[in-house]
Amino acid sequence: MTELAVLNHWVSNASFTGTATRTAPVYDPAVGVVSKHVRLAAAEDVDAAVASAKEAFETWGRTSIATRQRVMFAFRELINARRDELAQILTEEHGKVLADAAGEIARGIEVVEFACGMPHLTKGSYSVEVSSGVDVYSLREPLGVVGVITPFNFPAMVPLWFVPIAIATGNTVVLKPSEKDPSSSIWIAELFAEAGLPAGVLNVVNGDKEAVDSLLEHPDIASISFVGSTPIAKYVYETGTAQGKRVQALGGAKNHMLVLPDADLDLVADSAVNAGFGSAGERCMAVSVVVAVDPVGDDLIEKIRDRMGKLVTGDGRRACDMGPLITREHRDKVTGYLDIAATDGATVVVDGRTAEIDGAADGFWLGPTLIDNVPTTSTVYTDEIFGPVLSVVRVKSYEEGIALVNGGPYGNGTAIFTNDGGAARRFVRDATVGMVGVNVPIPVPVAYHSFGGWKQSMFGDAKAYGPHGVDFFTREKAVTSRWLDPSHGGLNLGFPHSS
Ligand code: NAD
Repeated sequence: MTELAVLNHWVSNASFTGTATRTAPVYDPAVGVVSKHVRLAAAEDVDAAVASAKEAFETWGRTSIATRQRVMFAFRELINARRDELAQILTEEHGKVLADAAGEIARGIEVVEFACGMPHLTKGSYSVEVSSGVDVYSLREPLGVVGVITPFNFPAMVPLWFVPIAIATGNTVVLKPSEKDPSSSIWIAELFAEAGLPAGVLNVVNGDKEAVDSLLEHPDIASISFVGSTPIAKYVYETGTAQGKRVQALGGAKNHMLVLPDADLDLVADSAVNAGFGSAGERCMAVSVVVAVDPVGDDLIEKIRDRMGKLVTGDGRRACDMGPLITREHRDKVTGYLDIAATDGATVVVDGRTAEIDGAADGFWLGPTLIDNVPTTSTVYTDEIFGPVLSVVRVKSYEEGIALVNGGPYGNGTAIFTNDGGAARRFVRDATVGMVGVNVPIPVPVAYHSFGGWKQSMFGDAKAYGPHGVDFFTREKAVTSRWLDPSHGGLNLGFPHSS
């Protein structure tokens, strides 16, 4: 039997084995077999990565912005040319279909392109003659060594939400990707090295809680950018800030799509299916609840069901619409909600367990599932399921619908579907949610806006990427300067003010 590869860490622009003996299996979810193992870093391995980043910061933090920008442009060219290679890795380890993997990479490249404009984005401001002979200017400086901890569901895009902005602003990075699909982060780090990024500027440690805790406690880590489930995001935020670090921690979601009676139901059905089942529902911006305002429920269910009948679930390397779930345990957990739905009095309209699969028998499959009349007391409604399960809740009015949108603990994304501009405008203002779509089901902002939810979907003040990303990875310094004029002088113990 051939021995499986073991994925190393990446430190100082080289593969790094480290000291730890623990490993975790990485699966090919469409086949259901272990495809490789990944090393799980011990504290000493994290120390080695941080030490490399700390040393690199001495130079990189003072490297000209033009040089940093050139590396970013070179990386952009390389990733563009080799995006198919990366898509293959995503599909092999995550399971999402190739077309979806390509979409994820395109959204990551958007942030790289945004980071190429860093000279403009970090321009300071200058006020001349604020007092006699005195000028004030502000500049933005990097934080130092920053930690980035990412989830399994966007193994390329989420690292790319943070890494390009962090390094373009002069920081050095220790990235800890999800241990479930870690290869794309190593691939990205290798590509950055090829683009000319100096050793130590981007390091990758593979690992689990032990590595995360080591980063959170490390005195040389200035900030933590985290994306993952809400309980871990809260833990990371509380632990990191208690250690005096700057932390942005993005968490889970339960996104509602409100459908008003005047909406174009064909557009709604297309959108609900695309946003509910894309990436097998393993997106933090997936639509998981359709809130149908009377009387559209029955027609909408029919239209959604029709479209679901056309979806092919299977191996993402084939011409399929939807791939498997990430692990067998996760698939079983998601499947468990179908039993709960029946017990709680909902109607399972389409049961994904019976779907025909274009893939290996042992893949982690669950076909698209539609559940109608979900009681809002059921855990099918209240939990983030993170699978291909679309719930429909019927309400009598807009007021009842917006109360559901705003009623839960999360506030990541939401959407309204209507042809009434006034109603849409009211919804935009009423929603206590960070990202809102109007006839757009997955309102992920472009790279020059910022991404983040409200309430339990995000801890900390700075969202990911865009202007918030630049602010997060820099700190402002305000300089008050005077070049002495012979006419000035003398003692004055009063508080300085403009004169
Ligand atoms: P997760 O919380 O299990 O893991 C995220 C990261 O935390 C991983 O790197 C993992 O190794 C680490 N981790 C896991 N358990 C830990 C622990 N006990 N202590 C410290 N670190 C730990 O999340 P996941 O399953 O990889 O990803 C799916 C979740 O991420 C969903 O809840 C989804 O909504 C959320 N997500 C949110 C966003 C967003 O922008 N808000 C984006 C993508 C995913």
